[in-house]
Amino acid sequence: MDYYLPSKYKYQMYEKVRNVETQCKWYSVCPMKYYFEAGKLDEKWVKEYCHGDWSICVRYHLEESGQYHPDNMLPDGSIANDL
Ligand code: SF4
Repeated sequence: MDYYLPSKYKYQMYEKVRNVETQCKWYSVCPMKYYFEAGKLDEKWVKEYCHGDWSICVRYHLEESGQYHPDNMLPDGSIANDL
C-alpha cells in the first residue's frame, strides 16, 4: 500500500528512524549510563532514550544548550530522588 505523506512529515519520520538507529552522542559521558551499569536505573530509560529516540530527551537538550541539569534528572526531565 502506498501512503501519501506531505514531505514535512516524511522528513520527521525519517529523523525518528535515524535517531533510533544511532546511540545518543552523550551516552559515554552521561550519568544515566553510569546508573544503568551500576544497576541503579531501570533499563527502559536507556532503551527508550539513549538507544532509542534521544531527540526527545530533556537531558540531551539541556546538554546541547549548555544549561545546568542535575545528575539525577531522568531523560523525561523528572528528578529521581533515589539516584
Ligand atoms: S539520558 Fe539523554 S543525554 Fe543522556 S545519553 Fe541518554 S539520551 Fe543522551
